Amino acid sequence: MAKIWVYAEHQNGTVDPTALEILTKVRTLGDAEAIALGQGASQITGVLGEHGAKTVYVSEDAAFDDFIAEPAAHVLAELAKQQSPDLICFGMTYDARDIAGRLSAKLPATLMSNALDIESPELIKTAIFGGERIVDVSLEGDQKIAIFRAKSFAPEPDTSAGEPTVQQIDIAVPDETKRAKRVERHEEEASGPKLEEAPVVISGGRGLQEPDNFKLLDDLAAAIGGAAVGATRAVVDAGWVPYAYQVGQTGKTVKPSVYIAVGISGATQHVVGMKGSKKIIAINKDEEAPIFQMADLGIVGDALKIVPQLIEEVKSRKG
Ligand code: FAD
Repeated sequence: MAKIWVYAEHQNGTVDPTALEILTKVRTLGDAEAIALGQGASQITGVLGEHGAKTVYVSEDAAFDDFIAEPAAHVLAELAKQQSPDLICFGMTYDARDIAGRLSAKLPATLMSNALDIESPELIKTAIFGGERIVDVSLEGDQKIAIFRAKSFAPEPDTSAGEPTVQQIDIAVPDETKRAKRVERHEEEASGPKLEEAPVVISGGRGLQEPDNFKLLDDLAAAIGGAAVGATRAVVDAGWVPYAYQVGQTGKTVKPSVYIAVGISGATQHVVGMKGSKKIIAINKDEEAPIFQMADLGIVGDALKIVPQLIEEVKSRKG
């Protein structure tokens, strides 16, 4: 039976949901095991077990929090040499990508980035041509690493799962791996639901004409309640909104119940990040805009006139 590892990134005991998504999938393919490093790692063993990890390897060494990537890559490489997993999976976060790249060089291992699905440790799916085509990729070599996009799988606890075996990692972190030190952490202030988790996402594009008009989307999100605001890369690059808003190939993947695209053309690089939405509503003044090809409901017209009407309508229906 294949042994598949999932690196469980966490922040002081709050696990990154992508780890739970990947565990949910890989537990169907073999023995799923998780690795949790850094302070608070012991607090997440339960949730990792619930999502399919039979064994969780844990180290609470503060070096994993204080120094970037190298201590984790070292310990993972040493552990992988001892345990020989068939595949090591990561979620596509900044820190995990950094660790995975270093780990790939250290082992050495075949590394597959931007993974979307997996059939076996040797066969993984990814998107090419900006998400136009999904292709199978065969991974060769004894050591393999895959980095999965967020939301590739739906996380589901396994009701039959027992408590995982928790194993303390007995590998020292050498001083020569303690080079790039994290000197400060900055928590981005956020109000309302997270873009990746909101049931309704309203994204704006260049069709909103100017940054101040993004306020219309905030107002619509507030009127609906529980909605988050996203954006295209065009407006992020123009500095209208921060990068955290970006949906698409080089931004976030969202799969809300309802996605409202406002003044967005529907370029493939944007679509790849939102096409899994259950219902797509598009507002665009150009009836030929590609976004209408995938929309369940299309409104042809000026967003600056339609969105205020929508806000009033939502407010009046909600009373
Ligand atoms: P445009 O394509 O300019 O579309 C604006 C739309 O607004 C048009 O359809 C227009 O008809 C409509 N419009 C104009 N005025 C109004 C109005 N008053 N009312 C209603 N509609 C109006 N893009 C992403 O979004 N996410 C990514 O992650 C991403 N990654 C990329 C990675 C690479 C390597 C590359 C090359 C590109 C990437 N892009 C990404 C950019 C992408 O190709 C498009 O350029 C971008 O998505 C276009 O953004 P837009 O729809 O806001 O702008």
